[in-house]
Amino acid sequence: MRSLDQYYRSRSLWLDGVPGSLEPRPSLPGDIDADVAIIGAGYTGLWTAYYLADADPALRVAVLEREIAGFGASGRNGAFCSGAFAATYEQMAKHAGRAAAIAMQQEMFRTVDEVGRAAAAEGIDCGFNKGGCLTAATTPAHVASLKAEADWHASWGLAEQFRWLEKEEADEHIRVAGSLGGLYTPECAVVNPARLARGLAAAVERRDVTIYERTPVLSFRGGGGRGADRGGRVDSGRVDTTCGTVRAPVVVLATEAYTVGAPGRHRAVLPMYSLMVATEPLGEDVWTEIGWSGRETFTDGRHLIIYASRTSDDRIALGGRGAPYHFGSAISNRFECEPKVFDAIHRVITELFPATRGARITHRWGGPIGIPRDWYPGVTYDGATGLGWAGGYVGDGVATTNLAGRTLADLILGRDTDIVRLPWVQHRSRPWEPEPFRWLGANLATRMMAAADEEERRSGRPSKKADVIPNLLVRR
Ligand SMILES: Cc1cc2nc3c(=O)[nH]c(=O)nc-3n(C[C@H](O)[C@H](O)[C@H](O)COP(=O)(O)OP(=O)(O)OC[C@H]3O[C@@H](n4cnc5c(N)ncnc54)[C@H](O)[C@@H]3O)c2cc1C
Repeated sequence: MRSLDQYYRSRSLWLDGVPGSLEPRPSLPGDIDADVAIIGAGYTGLWTAYYLADADPALRVAVLEREIAGFGASGRNGAFCSGAFAATYEQMAKHAGRAAAIAMQQEMFRTVDEVGRAAAAEGIDCGFNKGGCLTAATTPAHVASLKAEADWHASWGLAEQFRWLEKEEADEHIRVAGSLGGLYTPECAVVNPARLARGLAAAVERRDVTIYERTPVLSFRGGGGRGADRGGRVDSGRVDTTCGTVRAPVVVLATEAYTVGAPGRHRAVLPMYSLMVATEPLGEDVWTEIGWSGRETFTDGRHLIIYASRTSDDRIALGGRGAPYHFGSAISNRFECEPKVFDAIHRVITELFPATRGARITHRWGGPIGIPRDWYPGVTYDGATGLGWAGGYVGDGVATTNLAGRTLADLILGRDTDIVRLPWVQHRSRPWEPEPFRWLGANLATRMMAAADEEERRSGRPSKKADVIPNLLVRR
């Protein structure tokens, strides 16, 4: 029989390589009191605990995790610690103004550095390396759309952060077969995701936060915010788990895609599976062909997103969309294995990097991302009920969760800082449509993206299908 350590290691390349044991920490031992109860030990929950404990070491912070810290997307992702924020500048400007939209983007850039700073300060050996991100163009349609993207950023005053590179310049970063140039931003780092999550868990424990693993939360309610329950009054908020109850005036839900399992939140986000594969460590001959010496993150101009990194042990880890959305927002380990999608992702590696032909694929895995209805992440805190939430990061949560954690800590502690005035604070997306509309829309959009990519590859021209995709999934 497989041990729990083996089971958790099998969830991703990154978890597989974590040093030490992945045997779970003790579960909640029964009923306890806390000042803040956090549901979910991914980056959102752990960063929130980290900044709370940093600001007020006397706070009793309890983190409740159904599996182990880093079990979710935080232990499985594509390794981009990116300054990208999922909502567009236009969306943010619409309700908060142009200056607020730009402030949000600038704070995202700073957040990438903050992750690096905190990891270094805590001695977290997660290979943080800020080499930027190259988005390659391999069709004329990609060239057109990426140049338009560079112009769009420039129109928001961010020309320096997003530069179009001609082929020769792009090749200096990464040599991609069929490259016609690319869009480069320095505002992205690569990390080892699971080492970051596990290292962060250890860092919060050093600050006397308690993480209870294998502690599934069944239900929760807020309790009136900080100060409401210092005396342990009966109107306290509470989090009921299979192992006992945590009574706390402040409760933070940090469950991202898994939020759909929480009472009353079934349509809060759309869980979409993103799947990844990793090659075996590649030899020096392969890297001489490809370059990639700056350990940049890598993506390209296709609609059905792919994302890749060079790992610190010299593999290529590449992921992509294309897995189906499952009816009723279902989440299951079974959905992490889609042989056809794995094969397609492997084909992308050999097409873009022919020197990898013959390299073995050693790891295949996946996990759910959380997509809000308007593709606009949010961080919310209600001082009256003491309930906080952050999420809906789409596929850009590695850095955004850090900003979420800092922001939740400030909101909970009542601190009037610049970040609590950013436009995503108190942003609430409307719920997704009931089934079967979610299922139809999500799966149709995935097919349309694949079809648009195929058409652009054959014709070299931007596909009209691409214009329809946002309307199917996004209503801004
Ligand atoms: C394959 C993949 C690739 C990605 N690539 C990137 C990338 O390159 N860059 C990027 O920025 N983002 C990427 N993302 C997204 C990013 O990983 C997430 O946005 C981020 O990790 C979310 O962190 P989180 O803490 O909010 O959620 P999670 O890490 O999912 O943590 C939520 C936790 O809550 C726990 N939980 C759920 N329900 C309960 C319950 N009832 N009781 C107790 N605990 C519960 C779960 O077990 C889990 O540990 C990717 C995601 C995936 C899946």
